[in-house]
Amino acid sequence: MKPGPWARIDLDALRANLAICRRAAPGSRIWAVIKADAYGHGIGHCAQALQNADGYAVARVQEALGLGVLGIDKPILVMEGIMDAAELSSAFSMGLELVIHSQWQAELIDAQLSAHSHPRPLRVWIKVDTGMGRLGLLPEQVEVLIRQLQRLGSALELAGLMTHLANADDPSLPMTERQCEQARALADRFGLPLSIGNSAGMLAHPAARTDWVRPGIMLYGGSPLLGRSAEGLGLQPVMTLSSQLIAVRQLARGTPVGYGSTYHCPEAMPVGVVAIGYGDGYPRHAPTGTPVLVRDRRAALIGRVSMDMISIDLRNIPDAAVGDPVTLWGQGLAVEEVAAQVGTINYELLCRLSPRVRVVHQ
Ligand code: PLP
Repeated sequence: MKPGPWARIDLDALRANLAICRRAAPGSRIWAVIKADAYGHGIGHCAQALQNADGYAVARVQEALGLGVLGIDKPILVMEGIMDAAELSSAFSMGLELVIHSQWQAELIDAQLSAHSHPRPLRVWIKVDTGMGRLGLLPEQVEVLIRQLQRLGSALELAGLMTHLANADDPSLPMTERQCEQARALADRFGLPLSIGNSAGMLAHPAARTDWVRPGIMLYGGSPLLGRSAEGLGLQPVMTLSSQLIAVRQLARGTPVGYGSTYHCPEAMPVGVVAIGYGDGYPRHAPTGTPVLVRDRRAALIGRVSMDMISIDLRNIPDAAVGDPVTLWGQGLAVEEVAAQVGTINYELLCRLSPRVRVVHQ
């Protein structure tokens, strides 16, 4: 075993989760969302493993550039669109599909397309804000934009309309249906394809299963729905984050553990030290009690998380020994359970690993 933490990325699980996306929205085409280095799983390996998707979605042009060398011949959607003329020329040369979320982007595109000719049309999706309150044109602004873009003639192809759901993770809220209805009405009015569903939308809201869907977290085996386990949804964890015990110590009753001495041993007990810390991306705010697995048996974190290490209570595993593997999340320990303890979400834990963690794709 090599020292230090490692993240095993199970590409078969990734492919199996994509198959679940297909079954959830059989009539939809799928953009596999691989932004933020495929939610921390490695964009290159994941893009290649996800070749059964119909396309890929990234947030920024810069993320798409790296895909060029992989020879990907599927549509790549840039969900934040372009920032400047240089990005627009990259979009042209790579054949990227762009989201237009603001008038200033339309003007940039307008100026470039009016001034230069390009061999193929630029495909754009208009983003409409139906309730997220973040990016997008308001519904009443869409018509003017469409007319403006239509003046560019064959240089630009209006690919469709998209919107993003604000509360799809909680199916009890009526807002999602209202967002879907509003987007559907606009798409029908202008005769455009529609893209709504993220993972939660696709799984819990039939109206979000539109021409194109954009699953992210469920591909990586994370549950997108409040109160629903990934396992219960049939999803398999793709990332398993592990490290190993580098010390096992017998500490006396009352011994303080870690920075700030926030934990004192309630009795004489075995304490393990695991080679992982916030310098690796393990959350510093993980409290005493956060679960880990030692040789597949549950133990709990005690005291503060350091940069390189955590301490764990080994009273339940008296035979634990230096070198034993410790799972922080993944196979056998749902990342959602750890995230709930830490007060964050599965997304954040998955995409925050530092470069010090060895990533092994299998
Ligand atoms: N679409 C957009 C515009 C997004 O920003 C995201 C992720 O943040 C997704 C789709 C994928 O969402 P999820 O990971 O919840 O499936």
